[in-house]
Amino acid sequence: MARLLTGLIIVASLAAQDAVPARSGVKQALAYIEANHDRHVEKQIQISEIPAPTFAEKARGEFMASEFRRVGLKEVSIDPRGNVLGWRHGTSPRAIALAAHLDTVFPAETDVKVRREGKRLVGPGIGDDARGLTTILAIAEALEHGNVKTGKSILFVANCCEEGLGNLLGVKYLLQEGQYKDRIDAFISVDGSSQARIVNGALGSKRYRVTIKGPGGHSYGNFGRANPAHALGRAIAYFSEYQPPAKPKTTFNVGKIGGGTSVNAISFEMWMEVDMRSESEAELDKIEQHLLASIRRAVEDENKVAKFNTKVEAENKILGVRYTGFTPEDSALVRAAQWAAKQMGITASLTIGSTDSNIPINMKMPAVTLGGGGRGDSAHSLEEWYEPEGGWRGIQQVMLTVLAWDELAQTK
Ligand SMILES: [Zn+2]
Repeated sequence: MARLLTGLIIVASLAAQDAVPARSGVKQALAYIEANHDRHVEKQIQISEIPAPTFAEKARGEFMASEFRRVGLKEVSIDPRGNVLGWRHGTSPRAIALAAHLDTVFPAETDVKVRREGKRLVGPGIGDDARGLTTILAIAEALEHGNVKTGKSILFVANCCEEGLGNLLGVKYLLQEGQYKDRIDAFISVDGSSQARIVNGALGSKRYRVTIKGPGGHSYGNFGRANPAHALGRAIAYFSEYQPPAKPKTTFNVGKIGGGTSVNAISFEMWMEVDMRSESEAELDKIEQHLLASIRRAVEDENKVAKFNTKVEAENKILGVRYTGFTPEDSALVRAAQWAAKQMGITASLTIGSTDSNIPINMKMPAVTLGGGGRGDSAHSLEEWYEPEGGWRGIQQVMLTVLAWDELAQTK
C-alpha cells in the first residue's frame, strides 16, 4: 500500500515539474540567458578580479550588492556577518535561498587578474566561485526579464566564509541567526561549474591547529633540550603513515606548518594545520584519533631523548567541524535538480561534497550544491581555469531547478 501511494505521489509530482517550461515568461528567461552569455562571462571576470579572501570579502560583497540592485532584486542588504541578500518576492513569503560564495582561498596580495588563453580563462577564483556568483545574478536578471512569477519567494545570497577557516560561518549565520532564517524552506548553493553533479551529501571534515611548545634555547649552547620542531616532524611522520579507506573516501592533509625564530635557535613553538575529511563519521573519528595518538607519541619520543630535564608539550585546537548527512533522494529539491538536468540532456549523479550545503543538510533542511555551467579545473590554485563555452546551459539548469522546486513545493 505504501508502495502504491509513493508511486501515485511521484506521478503527480512529475506532472507538476513538467508545468515549468510552459509557465509564463520561462521561455523568454531561458532565451535571455543564452543570448547574454558573453556579457555574463565578462561579469564573471569582473567579479573574479575583485580580491575576496575569507574574512575580507567586503569589496566583492559591495559590488554584488550593487549588482543585486541593478538586476532588480528588492530589499538588498548586507547582514552583520557580511552576506549580501536580495529578494525576489513570490506570492508566498516563504523562500528558497539561492546562494554562491564570495570568498576565495587566495590571500589579499594574490594577483587575481584573469588572462585569456584561447577559449580558456585563467585566474585564481574564476570558477570557484566567480561562476556561482555570476549564475545567481544571471538568474535574477532572466526571471526579471521574463517577468516570471513564482509561488515561493527567492532569497538571493552572496555569502561569505565558505572557504578554509571560514567554516561556513556565512551560511550558518544566514540559516541560524539571520533575520530571514525562519522564512527559508530550502537551500541551493551554486559552486563551480559542473552540470553533472548534484551534491546532496555533506562531506564531514575536521580541522586542527596543533602547537608544540618547548623551552627554546641556543642551537649550539643548549643542544639537547627538548625540540618542538623535531617533535612536530615526528608527529607528521607518524600521522602520515595512516592508510585511509578508499571507500568511504577518507583523506588527510597537513596543509601548513610554521614556527621558530632563527636557524640557530631551538624553537619555543612550532605548529601545523591539519585537514581530515571522510564520507563516514566513523572513519572521520578514526583518523582524528590517529592524529591525536601520533601527536602524543611524537611528544613522548622527543621527551625521551631530550636532556637537562626539558620537555615539549602539545596543544590541540579544533579549528572547525563539518558534519555528514544527506538531503533525501525523494525530496522535492533533489527531484527538481534531477529533472532540470534531464531537461538539459544531462544524467546528473548525486554526490557528496564539502560545501555551504553542509550547514542546511546538518539542520535537516533540503539543500543541494549545483554547478553554474562551462568547464573548469585546478580550483584553489593560481592556475585555476574556466572554459565558458556553452556555460549558459548550466545557468538555465539551476534556474529550472529553482522553478521545478517551486512547483513541487506548492503541490505539497
Ligand atoms: Zn567553492
